[in-house]
Amino acid sequence: RTILTHRGVACRTALHQGGPVPDQTTSVMWFRRDLRTADNPALLAALADGPTLPLFVLDPALWGPAGPSRRSYLVDSLRSLGRDVPVSVVRGDPAQQVLRAAQEVGATRVHVAADYGPYGARRDAAVEEALRDTGIELVRTGSPYAVAPDRVTNGSGASYKVFTPFSRAWAEHGWRGPADPLPTDARWRHLKETVDLPDVALPEGLELPDAGEAAAHRAWEAFLDKVVDYDGARDLPGVEGTSRMSHHLKYGEIHPRTLLADLAGRGGKGATTYRQEIAWREFYADVLFQRPDSAREYLRREYAAMTYDEPGADFEAWCEGRTGFPVVDAGMRQLRATGWMHNRLRMITASFLVKDLHVEWQHGARHFLHWLVDGDLASNNHGWQWTAGSGTDASPFFRVFNPTSQGRKFDPDAAYVRTWVPELVDVEDPHDPSPEARRRVGYPEPLVDHAAERLEALDRYQAIKK
Ligand code: FAD
Repeated sequence: RTILTHRGVACRTALHQGGPVPDQTTSVMWFRRDLRTADNPALLAALADGPTLPLFVLDPALWGPAGPSRRSYLVDSLRSLGRDVPVSVVRGDPAQQVLRAAQEVGATRVHVAADYGPYGARRDAAVEEALRDTGIELVRTGSPYAVAPDRVTNGSGASYKVFTPFSRAWAEHGWRGPADPLPTDARWRHLKETVDLPDVALPEGLELPDAGEAAAHRAWEAFLDKVVDYDGARDLPGVEGTSRMSHHLKYGEIHPRTLLADLAGRGGKGATTYRQEIAWREFYADVLFQRPDSAREYLRREYAAMTYDEPGADFEAWCEGRTGFPVVDAGMRQLRATGWMHNRLRMITASFLVKDLHVEWQHGARHFLHWLVDGDLASNNHGWQWTAGSGTDASPFFRVFNPTSQGRKFDPDAAYVRTWVPELVDVEDPHDPSPEARRRVGYPEPLVDHAAERLEALDRYQAIKK
């Protein structure tokens, strides 16, 4: 009798010894940012319970604000997952939908990978409460990170506020190896009533990368062959030198643990630098967990006093890649055409918005999140805060990127600019076309005088330093 009030392994063993009660229970695997079968500890935990309902909830709170890139990519990723696992898709408030699904299949547990983002954590607490009232348990196993937020702390148990000591402690903390493959005798449940995945219309000219676990592994294996060159090539947008794993990581089509395990034993600067980039992702997730307000508010609060301009026609020109600064326009057009932008360009375009157009970073962050397939609150908004000078290891506000010299330095043969601003393809000096050349090919004059706007930005900065 006492035993029946408990759940878990010990309980099942005891029940089993008792004889008549089956040693398996039905459970739910609620997929969110973990759309994969390999190296998925939460899915293994569900299957260890017994027959499993793989569930996905189209949550209006997340679907509503997502732009067409993320919606479309998510649908493709779910279709891909559905070919390996019979996922039941429902739509609505997760607190109601997860409970209803668990009750329909008679589940005693709902398994998830923990979500540490501000919305995800709140949503999960609400689901947990709804389930608890009916005696169903929400079980969190793993997370989208090699080391979950809040685990990397200093000697006195405090979290890190800057990257370098965090990354050292993160590497020392270490992580588990990849989880076992799925059992071959997995048994699945499904719901009677589900919704079809919506078809998402993409704006003309937008072409997204392939979604799904198989695509993630293909991309990763191709990158591993050239990781040795990563350190030298990662800053050159005209070269395919980065891994393009960010969207796969965002949707959990591959886990960072898998990447780190493949990198283990690979020496060389390329592999070391790549591990550091994964550490940045984990660092920003940790910072957002410690300071959920930093998704919208200044991490360094003194920067909230800075004067900014309201976004107007200049902001629209920036969004549409019509600023007359070729490298900025190339970045903004790449974003709209592919749902991805090279990291160097994210820095250049963000700096241009904040320091040349004097528009507050949150406007740019929202635009990025609307278009980026990999749009991630922690990495995006802290990337923006870095630019705005208010972030963890912020680039000092007074160091203002000159878009023309950034273009010349990182795109020396102008291959990147020519790809994304094709009207400049035959122009002499595509990073700084002459007024005559601009008129001839119909490319706009520079929206602002960079030297003057740099001084204006520094004046505004001095005003908050007083
Ligand atoms: P690679 O160079 O191959 O890096 C490997 C992985 O490391 C990436 O996939 C990513 O997971 C991680 N990573 C690399 N650089 C960073 C970084 N600076 N911060 C955090 N993680 C990093 N990344 C996102 O995943 N989502 C975002 O919404 C996002 N917004 C950004 C906004 C701004 C203003 C800036 C400056 C950076 C942003 N980044 C974001 C970080 C970075 O630009 C992208 O992760 C990277 O360009 C993705 O391409 P990749 O996978 O080829 O990168």
